[in-house]
Amino acid sequence: MYGAIRIRGARENNLKSISLDIPKRQITVFTGVSGSGKSSLVFGTIAAESQRLINETYPAFVQQFMPHYGQPDADQLENISAAIIVDQQRLGGNSRSTVATVTDAAQMLRVLFSRLAEPKLGSPNLYSYNDPRGMCPDCEGIGQVAAMDMTAVIDETRSLRDGALLPKGFEVDSWWAGAYFNAGLFDIDKPVRDFTAEEREMLFNLDDGRKVKVGKINITYEGVVAKLKKGLGSKDPESLQPHMRAEYDRIFTRALCPACHGARLNQQALASRIEGHNIAELSAMQVSELAKLVRAIAAPQVGPMLEALALRLENLVTIGLGYLSLDRESSTLSGGESQRVKMVRHLGSSLTDITYIFDEPSVGLHPHDVGRLAGLMQQLRDKGNTVLIVEHKPDMIAIADHVVDMGPFAGSRGGEVVYEGDYAGLLTSGTLTGDHMSKHQAIKGKVRPAMGELKIAHAVLNNLRDVSVSIPMGVLTAVTGVAGSGKSSLIQGCLPKAYPDTIIIDQNLARGSRRSNTATYTGILDNVRKAFAKANGVDAALFSANSKGACPDCNGLGVIYTDLAHLDPMVTTCETCEGKRFTAEVLEHQLRGKSISDVYEMSIADAVGFFTEAPIARILRGLEDVGLGYLTLGQPLSTLSGGERQRLKLAAELGKTGNIYVLDEPTTGLHMNDVDTLIGLFDRLVEAGSTVIVIEHNLDVISRADWVIDLGPGAGQDGGRIQFEGPPADLAAHKGSLTGQHLAARNG
Ligand code: ADP
Ligand code: ADP
Ligand code: ZN
Ligand code: ZN
Repeated sequence: MYGAIRIRGARENNLKSISLDIPKRQITVFTGVSGSGKSSLVFGTIAAESQRLINETYPAFVQQFMPHYGQPDADQLENISAAIIVDQQRLGGNSRSTVATVTDAAQMLRVLFSRLAEPKLGSPNLYSYNDPRGMCPDCEGIGQVAAMDMTAVIDETRSLRDGALLPKGFEVDSWWAGAYFNAGLFDIDKPVRDFTAEEREMLFNLDDGRKVKVGKINITYEGVVAKLKKGLGSKDPESLQPHMRAEYDRIFTRALCPACHGARLNQQALASRIEGHNIAELSAMQVSELAKLVRAIAAPQVGPMLEALALRLENLVTIGLGYLSLDRESSTLSGGESQRVKMVRHLGSSLTDITYIFDEPSVGLHPHDVGRLAGLMQQLRDKGNTVLIVEHKPDMIAIADHVVDMGPFAGSRGGEVVYEGDYAGLLTSGTLTGDHMSKHQAIKGKVRPAMGELKIAHAVLNNLRDVSVSIPMGVLTAVTGVAGSGKSSLIQGCLPKAYPDTIIIDQNLARGSRRSNTATYTGILDNVRKAFAKANGVDAALFSANSKGACPDCNGLGVIYTDLAHLDPMVTTCETCEGKRFTAEVLEHQLRGKSISDVYEMSIADAVGFFTEAPIARILRGLEDVGLGYLTLGQPLSTLSGGERQRLKLAAELGKTGNIYVLDEPTTGLHMNDVDTLIGLFDRLVEAGSTVIVIEHNLDVISRADWVIDLGPGAGQDGGRIQFEGPPADLAAHKGSLTGQHLAARNG
C-alpha cells in the first residue's frame, strides 16, 4: 500500500459532507447517475486542491497573475499529489496546431529529418512550418489561402440593374448599387457575363479613390471584390453576428495554397526525403501506416530516436486513433478524439506518482476498442501513478481496483458515497450502479415499420467512397462502427446536404453562454418574469438582468468574471449582491414566498413542484425527461458538460413533430439508468412522428433501435463502407460485423 488521498467533510456543490480514502497507485473508478456529484468530488475537490497547491509553490509575484483557486469546501484534504486532468475539452487552437504538434511527434519527425534525410539541410527547424526558414512563403505555413466564392458574389446571367450583385448591402435599391449605377463605367443593363475584361476589372477591383454622386452625396467608388475584402473579409468571423457570419461563410472560402498544395513548407524543405518521402507526405499518411514505415527504417545511428517515434505512433494506434494523420488539424477532432490524443502525450511520460484524472475516456470508442483503452490505464498505474476515472461503461468500471459509487440520486437527492470498495463488492452492493452491471436492454424483437426513407446517394467525403444508403423515416436508427469508420462523415456531413432541414443536436455551446443559463436558454425566464410581475403588480422588465433592478456591479450575473490571458477566467461571487443578482428592492417582490434569486437557485426538479404556470411546467417536465432535473435554473451554460448541453438542446426540441433529428453519442455522461430514460424519450419522439438518428456505441441503445447501419470494417482508409443494414436482431447474428459480435457476446 502506498497510502491514500484522504478526504474529510467535502461539501462542494451537492456533496453532503462526505469522507473517504482513495488508494494511491491504483485505479479508482467513480460511478453514479448524472448529477450525483462525481465531478464535484473529482474535479471540484481533488483536482481543484491539487491546482491550488501547485499554484502556491509559485512566488507571490507570479501568483497574482494566476487564476485564484479557492480552497475547496472541505474540512480536510490530505496526501494529494500533482494532478493532470485529461478531459474532453476540445484541443481547439489555430490551424498550426495538429495531431503532430499536440503529441510531440512533429518535433521527433523533424529531428529525424535533420539527421537522416537526403539532401541534408541542417537544423530540425528547417522542416517546421512555424519557422520562417521552413514555412511556405505564399501561405506562411497555413497551407491554405483565403479565396472568394465568386458564384456567391455575382450572378453572371443578370445585369447590374437586374440584381447581378448578390451580397447583402448590394441590393439594387441600396447606396452601393447606386454607386455602380451612376459611375458611368459600364452598361448597367448588360448581363455581367458579356462585360469586357476591362469592365470586369472596373466592376470588381477598381479602387482609385474616385468619387461618385449618389443622390446628394459623394461617395468613394470601390469595386465589389475590393470592397468585400476590406469590409466583411477583414473581420474575424468568430466575432460576427449570426446573420453576418452566415454571409461571411457564404462568400469567403479557403483554398489550397497554390505554391505548396497544402504541404505548408517551402520547396527546399520539401525536396529533402527519407526513403523517398518528404516530411509533408509522411505527415499526411494514416498513423497506422506511418508507424509501420518508421519501424522498417534501418538506421542504427539514430536507433533510439526511431524507437521513440515508433512508440509514440503505436500508442496512437493502440488507443484507437490509427486512422488519423499527423497533419490533421487538432480543431477538427471530436471531444473523445481530443482526450485520447492528449492521453498519448502522457503515456510517453516517465513521471511517476502523478494523479491522472480522466473524464469518461471511453467516449467515442467502439466496445471493440474499450479493452485496449483499459490496458493503457493499467500501464499508467503500473508506472506508479494514481488513476482516477469518471466512467459509465461496464467494461471500464470492471477494471477498477477500487470503486466509489455516488448517489443515491441527483442534485440534492445525491451527494453521498453509496458504495466504496472493490469491483466484486459493487456487484452485490444493491446500488443503482451495482444492479445495472448485470442487467441490460434486450434486443428489440418487433421493430417499428418505416414511414418512408431518406436517401444518401454516392456519398464521397473523407473516407467515404461512393456510399449509397437509405435511412428509414419515422423510426429510431442507430449508426454504428469503430471510431474513424465514417459515421459522422456520413450522418453529419452528407445527410444535411441531401436533406437541409435535418436538425443536428450537438454538444457545442450556444453563443453568449456566459450570460445564458438554463432558464434563459429554455425560455423559462420570460414566463417566470411575467409570473412575478403579475403577482406583484409591477413591470416584468424589473426582473430582467439588464434592467435597473439588476445588481449594478455584476449586471445580474451574481458573479464577476476576471479574464486572464491564456488562462481560464477567474470567477468570484459578486460582493455587492452576495450572488443574489438583483437589488434589495427587487428581491422584496415574491412569488408564493420565493424571490427571483431563490428561483435561480432552484433545481429543475424542485421547480416542477413550484411552478403551476402551464408554459413553465411544460418546459420543466421536458428538462426532467432528458435527465437534467438536477440542474439549477440559474446554472450558466458554460458550466455544463458536452453531454448536458446536448440534452438541453434535445429538451428544446420536445413537443415538435415530424422532424429529422441527428444526435452524436447522446449517452455521453449518462449513467446506465439515465440511458434507459433517454431511450424512452427517443421512443416518444418517434411516436410523435419524428425520425431519430443516433450515432452510438452504447449497446443498450443499439439493442432498442428499429434499424442499424453499421460502418466499417475498420477505421480511416480501412473503413468507410456499409457493413450491415437491418434490425438489431439480425445484426447480432451477423458474424462479419464487430458491432454484431459485441451485441451477440453480451446476450450470451
Ligand atoms: P456528476 O458529475 O455526477 O454528473 P456534478 O458534480 O456535476 O454531478 O453535479 C452535482 C450537483 O452539483 C448537481 O446538482 C449540479 O447541478 C450541481 N453543480 C455542479 N456544478 C455546479 C456549478 N458550477 N454551479 C452550481 N451547481 C453546480
Ligand atoms: P467516425 O464518426 O466513425 O468516428 P469520421 O467520419 O469522423 O468517423 O471519420 C472518418 C474518416 O474521415 C477518418 O479517417 C477521419 O480521420 C477522416 N476525417 C473526419 N473528419 C475529418 C476532417 N475534418 N478533416 C480530415 N479528415 C477527416
Ligand atoms: Zn503554401
Ligand atoms: Zn452583484
